Parts: sequence; structure tokens; C-alpha cells
Amino acid sequence: MTWTPQNPFANRSDLPYELPPFAQIRDEHYLPAFYEGCSLQLAEVRNIIEQDTVTFENTIVAMELSGQVLMRMLLVFFNKSSSDTSPELDAIEAEIAPKLAAHTDAIHLNPQLWGRIKDLFERRENLGLDSESAYLLERYYRDFIHAGAHLTEEQREILKGYNERLSTLETEYGQKVLADANDLAIVVDDVAELDGLTDTQIATAAAAAKDRDLEGKWVIPMVNFTGHPLLEALTNRSLRERIMKNSLIKGGRDNDNDVRGIVQEFVSLRAKRAELFGFKSHAEYVISNQTAGTPTNVHSMLRRIAPAAIRNARAEAADIEKAMGDGKVESWDWDFYTEKVRLEKYNVDTSKFKPYFELERVLADGVFFAANKLFGISFKERKDLVAYHRDARVFEVFNEDGSELALFIFDVYARESKRGGAWMNNLVDQNHLFDQKPIIVNNLNVPKPPAGEPTLLTFDETTTLFHEFGHALHGMLSNVTYPRFSGTSTPRDFVEFPSQVNEMWILWPEVVTNYARHFETGEPLPQEWIDNLNATETFNQGHATTSYLQAAILDLAWHELDSNAKVDSVVSFEADAIEAYGLTFAPVPTRYRSTYFTHIFAGGYAAGYYGYIWSEVLDAETVDWFKNNGGLTRKNGQHFRDTLLSRGGTKDAMELFKDFRGSEASIEPLLKRRGLL
Ligand SMILES: [Zn+2]
Repeated sequence: MTWTPQNPFANRSDLPYELPPFAQIRDEHYLPAFYEGCSLQLAEVRNIIEQDTVTFENTIVAMELSGQVLMRMLLVFFNKSSSDTSPELDAIEAEIAPKLAAHTDAIHLNPQLWGRIKDLFERRENLGLDSESAYLLERYYRDFIHAGAHLTEEQREILKGYNERLSTLETEYGQKVLADANDLAIVVDDVAELDGLTDTQIATAAAAAKDRDLEGKWVIPMVNFTGHPLLEALTNRSLRERIMKNSLIKGGRDNDNDVRGIVQEFVSLRAKRAELFGFKSHAEYVISNQTAGTPTNVHSMLRRIAPAAIRNARAEAADIEKAMGDGKVESWDWDFYTEKVRLEKYNVDTSKFKPYFELERVLADGVFFAANKLFGISFKERKDLVAYHRDARVFEVFNEDGSELALFIFDVYARESKRGGAWMNNLVDQNHLFDQKPIIVNNLNVPKPPAGEPTLLTFDETTTLFHEFGHALHGMLSNVTYPRFSGTSTPRDFVEFPSQVNEMWILWPEVVTNYARHFETGEPLPQEWIDNLNATETFNQGHATTSYLQAAILDLAWHELDSNAKVDSVVSFEADAIEAYGLTFAPVPTRYRSTYFTHIFAGGYAAGYYGYIWSEVLDAETVDWFKNNGGLTRKNGQHFRDTLLSRGGTKDAMELFKDFRGSEASIEPLLKRRGLL
């Protein structure tokens, strides 16, 4: 199919909030819109550099205005290829990934365009810009340098080659890991092996088997991280062992989906690229543009945490072995016995929470309710509006005064066409330049119950829902002029902070009593359970912190290599990196191994996985602030919204935090929360 003016990406959608016209969008529309979008944007750039005078308006603002067809297509496409992919979409993604990298390079590495930006930046004091515009100019200047605009022509050509290859590798890695994870799904022949699971969980496994033409059996699909949510319930030890072992070998077997070679090529190319920029390593290059500044700063923070984390994990293992009676705890026993220990020590059994966490109530009376109390916003489902999949629901969001704020799309269920994990993304970015209101999507991977049965969430899934909605709030409450700064367009080691803060409302008295009710009897979640759970805040944090730190360290270790580094074995490199931090402990494996670490090899988190704990410092401080200021109030919410959530990336991230908090962040609240003091 070729480009025509009837292509659904040709114009701004006339649906409410410029919702993409999903009913019209077909697979064959993507490629023509992609190619046309690229050439239109290049023509816009040519037009910019042909202007005789150099002004902020005709250069920076003109850049913000450029590339609309391409942007519309990409936002829809990547949303779809993450949430509901197909072999056809995978093929399109593989085709466009390197071309998109080349297109971005053609702009960032355009010498005339760079000359104009540099010229403006050098006389920025005299341009009379408002603060958001001044920061936009600075960001463009720094983005272009980060992309290599200042390199020589010869270097720029080399860089383009690296970038194209890297983006191809990224797509390949993601697709292979997903394929291998699907192959590694556990098939169970005898239902007796599923002892410990609820009827719904067993029905879900039966449905998964049916989807794979294995009717009469049960299938447990792999998840993207190490381990599996069902490990806490399955009494059959050998089944637990099979699940854990399969989860650990994703992407690392001798077959077509082996990504070990890709990992090696990845890190070597990234190191070469960093050297081209004058950095010692990819980690230095990446972190120079983050709030942390340098890998050294990151390490010194992680090293404050690591010894206490592993010490606590070993103590937890001792407790578990006591509960086991005899034998040594293995990684596949951990979750199962942890629940037993939790029960014994604190009388908390989170598996009993499920009937109290019915999806519709959690969403409306928990997540939406808390947002209403804080920000005054309200939600109304719009069944008349169609999203990209029948399970993706559309909600309209209103301000306190009734004015329109955003659309929120909620896509909660797992399916084979959806990648693992949970995330937020945008279909339309809020900005005043185009007068656009945001459309934000939340994706989760909750197993879909059989037709007619309610969706009951685990405590972890409820936590994920509040977390992702925190990102959604950052996108929906955005109030910025330029698209570049919209919502979550902040440094990566800052972006997890608002989402983590939103988790504080899960057990907040006013919220939990409002939503956590038994789906059959309407009884509230017993207060005693809530109190007991609150008392366990530091419980199992040794395990959680250790497995997280192992992954964060692994990410840094790969990306601190220089281009001459020779790695013979991905497996032993991994073990050595973890050992070097004193975090080797077989019952606690890393949350991600190199062969399924999609955050860093197929997503944007390379040298950035540390960001979760980096931003948790800000989160823990903020939770303290809310608690000390009266908690869930409109006043507190408005202050958070005005000073931080609505500001997107319009200011240095740590400055935004100071505007909100009135001071710099300290690490103590985090250490206290995780029991690491
Ligand atoms: Zn997040």
C-alpha cells in the first residue's frame, strides 16, 4: 500500500481528544505513514535551515512543530506492538527500527541545524525567553550534543552505522526473548500437581492450554522476570523447581532464540559509541545526562545499601529454613515459605487478600478515588470510544471544575500478543503548542478469568496498578507548552518517582476502607490484616533489595566495559559482576539475567536500571512529607500537582523536587523503609 491523503495518520484525528481512529487503522497503514512522515519531517527541517535569520521561533519552536505525521504513527504503532503484537507487526517493527534510528540521526547530525541551535544557545541570555522556553533551548542543545551533533563528519558517519545496528539488535533481542519465553511455558498433565492454586488460577491455566491447542492440560506461561507469581502458592516442589529453572534460562539456550551473542555485540557497540563521544563507557555517557550525573555517584549509593541487603536476605533465609523444618532453601522455595513465615511471624497471608481486591472496585473506589481526593479529578467510562483492542477500556477524566483533562485507556489483561510487565505510554502528549490534551495508556498483565467470573487481583497486582497509575497521573496532569516536556519526559532516574509515590495510597485508611471489600459478602478487608501487613513493611526486603541490586549492578557492569573488553561467557561475566559486589547467594537470584533483561537490551533502560532505587529516595522522602502534612488532602495533592506533576520536564529534575519538598532529598527515609539502617 502506498501513502494517500486518506491514510488515518495523515491528519489530526477529529475524534474526542484526538483519539486515534482505531476502527480505521489497519496494519498496511503503518509503513506508508512511517515513510511519508519521515520525509515530511526532513522537508520541515530543510525549511528551517533555509531561513536567513535564526530565531527561537523559526528554529526551536519550528522543530517542536515538525514531524506530526510520524509522531502520530509511532505513538500508535509502538503502543500496539507492545500491547497486541502479531507476526505482521513484528516484521514492520523490524523494518522501521533501524530506519527510525537513521531518521533521528539525520536530524540530530545535521550540521546546519546544529549550527543554528548552537548559535541560539550562545546568545540565550539576550533572547528574552520565558523560563520554559529557555530550558527548551538548553535541552535541545544538550540533546544534540548527546546525539553527537558536535562530531566531525567522519565520526558522524560511523555513529549512524552504530545506531542503526543497535536498533536492529534491540528489536531482535525483544522478539527472541518473547519467543523463547513462550516456548518455555510449563505444561502440566495432571491437575494434582497444581495443588495450592485457587480454582480461578487453575481455570486460567486450563484456558492458557486451550489457547495453545493443548486442551485437557494446564499451561503456566513464563513471565518476564526471574521466578513466577504462582511460586508462592504451589505446594508441589518439583513443579516449582521446573518453573524457576525455566524462568532462569529464557533467551540463554542453544537454539534460534539464543540472545547471548546479541548481548555481547550490544555492549561492545555501545562502548564504541560512547568512546566516539569522548566517554570512557556507555554508563558514563548515559548517566552524564541523568540526575545521578556519574556512575561513581550511583555506585556510592548502591554500596551504602548492598551489605545490609544481603545480610538481611541471609537472615530471611535462616527464618525460611526454620519454617521448612529440614533441608536447604532453594530459589524455588523462597516465595512459598516466605508466605508461611509471613503468616507465622506476622499473621499475614496476602493470598487471602484476593477476594477483597476485585478489579472494578480497586480501580474505581481505590485508584480513581485516591486521585480524586488528591487532585479533584473524576472519571467516566466512555464505552462509545474504541481503543486498539477489545479489552482496552477508555475513560474520560475531568478536573474539579468539570473541564476536560484527559483520556485514560486501561488495558489490564495478559495475552500472548502482549509483552510482559506493566507500563504506561501516551497516544497523545499534552502540550499547549498544539492545544492537545493527553491520552494515556496503562498496561498490566493480569490473567484474564474465565467469562462471567470477577477479576480478583493479588496484592502485587494491586500494587502494580497503583504504581502504573502514578505514571498515568504524571502524563494526565501535565500542563506544559512544548511537547518535548510533556508528562513523563524527565530523566529516567527521576521518572519512577511519582509512580512509586502513588503506591502509598494502597493501604491508606481512607482509601483501603473504600475499595477493599469482599467481592461476595461486601465485608471490608479485616483491619487486623491491614495492621499486620503494615507491620511487615521491612519483611522480605532483604530478598527484594538483593535481587533488584543484582540486576542494577549487572546493568552497570555490562555498560562500564570499554570497547576492547573481551567477554568469553555471558554467564560467568554475570556471576563475577554479582560476586564483586558481595551479592552472590543462590536462593536469591537476580531479578533479571542478561538473557532476558529487556529493560536494558530491548527498552530504554541501559545503564539506567539503578534509577528505580535512585528515584525511591525521592519517593520515600515524599511519602514522609505527605504523612507529616496530613496525608490524603486536596491541599497536599494540589501542591504536588502544581510544583511537580504538572511540570513534566520543564526544569532540572532535582530543582522540581526542591520546589515541591522545599529541600534536597536525603537517603534516610529509604534506608528506614527497607530495614537497612
Ligand atoms: Zn514504573
